[in-house]
Amino acid sequence: MVSMVKEFKMLINGKWCGAASGKTFASINPFDEKPVGLFQQGNEMDARKAVQAAKNAFMKWSEVPAPKRGEILFDIANELKDRKQEFAELISLEMGKPIIESMGEVQEAIDLAYYLAGEGRRLFGHTTKSELKDKIAFTVRLPVGVCALITPWNFPISIPAIKMLTALVCGNSFVLKPSSDAPLCATRLVELIEKHVKLPGVVNLVTGPGGTAGRELITNEDIRLIAFTGSIETGAFIRQNAGLKKIGLELGGKNAIIVMDDADIDLAVDGILWGAFGTTGQRCTACSRVIVHEKVKKELEEKLLKRVKQLRLGNGLDRKINVGPLVNESALKKTENYVRIGLKEKARLLIGGKRLKGKGFFFEPTVFSNVKPGMRIAREEIFGPVLSIISVKNLDEAIRIANSVKYGLSSAIYTESIANAFKAIEAIEAGLTYVNSSTTGSEAHLPFGGVKATGSTREQGIIGIDEFTEIKTVYIDYSGKLQKAQID
Ligand code: NAP
Repeated sequence: MVSMVKEFKMLINGKWCGAASGKTFASINPFDEKPVGLFQQGNEMDARKAVQAAKNAFMKWSEVPAPKRGEILFDIANELKDRKQEFAELISLEMGKPIIESMGEVQEAIDLAYYLAGEGRRLFGHTTKSELKDKIAFTVRLPVGVCALITPWNFPISIPAIKMLTALVCGNSFVLKPSSDAPLCATRLVELIEKHVKLPGVVNLVTGPGGTAGRELITNEDIRLIAFTGSIETGAFIRQNAGLKKIGLELGGKNAIIVMDDADIDLAVDGILWGAFGTTGQRCTACSRVIVHEKVKKELEEKLLKRVKQLRLGNGLDRKINVGPLVNESALKKTENYVRIGLKEKARLLIGGKRLKGKGFFFEPTVFSNVKPGMRIAREEIFGPVLSIISVKNLDEAIRIANSVKYGLSSAIYTESIANAFKAIEAIEAGLTYVNSSTTGSEAHLPFGGVKATGSTREQGIIGIDEFTEIKTVYIDYSGKLQKAQID
């Protein structure tokens, strides 16, 4: 029987082509487990070809004046804005998040595109005085070269968008290797972007397994920057195998919300619900720990449980649902396993804990109470709808526990006390701290990233261009004689 599922190609050197392997793989809708498309199973050969194409095209693109590159991004932003609904539906179809969140994700990509378009007229360096007479000094930003962009499935439009658009405005060419769980979103976005860039070889897309196509990008000598977002395990693999390349790593999280005894509990419950169960807990910034002052624990749990019971699970494309499915069977099994671990560790299961019967990778929103900081459910990234509640006596203890995990991405505190808020801002080891707001919700003009095992680079905002540029320091001596720094 002829398959009715549409087959998509990869983009190498301006041509949409099949993989060297001749094989394809399916991307699955996690709601009904039906394929949404067939994609090329690219391997090392395809990745090498794409890198070569990007290398050949690099010079031409880097010579396009940066403001002109910015204008191209502006056109991309406009088209993305016009097609917001279409891209949002693709996200919900391919990885299951509720359409309202998908619309937000596309809006994030639009905001980033407009912001970065403006960067084409900035890309600032520094100027400063020289220590010598008749000499000036300044810095210029240069592109890095050919970039390998390797992305996850949980933000299948905004993460590829931030990497591709930052690379482009800074004058780099690239190969994008998207997650095998979300190649449709990446393919459609690449189609849009390359149509505006127009120079063949600047924008390349290789789909296929991380272990083959991705691995080649990591080890290929012509790659100058690896910009990676994904798990800590793959991040560690990249560190070990990338040699001396420039590396940007945006890895996992085990983010905590601290709720103090002076907090507005209803507001905190809103934030916890959104942080823990939005995107079915599959955000790097998801709240997976609540560290609550013992005096308000009972009230918080009662109010939270009432709200969790009201959450509606279903098809991401249905506007009436709150929580979609997990991305695939293996995410479902991982979540189930952590619930087993939590029960074995003697945490108290307040609600949820089971997968749903029938089609789709659904798991009940789950809350554990009486969790101790040393338990695995309190330390490891589950990446599913599982929340652990830990009770504490004071803020010092709360901060100590918040910092006791290896990750350091996002954090939040709910308090009415300015002193508590500032103490948390200073003492929590994380790239992001929200006060009286959930752990999630970054904005395009502000830096995003973590500390400790989450990685140390920042994307977005003015700092986001550091990863995708090299700084050159320039000295111009107009004294007409040899002047020696530190000597004359
Ligand atoms: P992942 O398994 O590490 O995969 C990420 C990407 O790496 C995919 O494209 C994957 O390809 C590729 N890959 C896998 N093994 C590789 C290898 N040996 N060499 C080269 N590439 C390889 O992560 P994920 O499950 O997609 O994403 C979830 C993780 O991302 C979570 O830990 C989450 O916290 C993190 N995340 C972090 C941020 C942040 O900004 N800090 C944002 C979003 C997500 P295949 O799909 O083909 O395996």
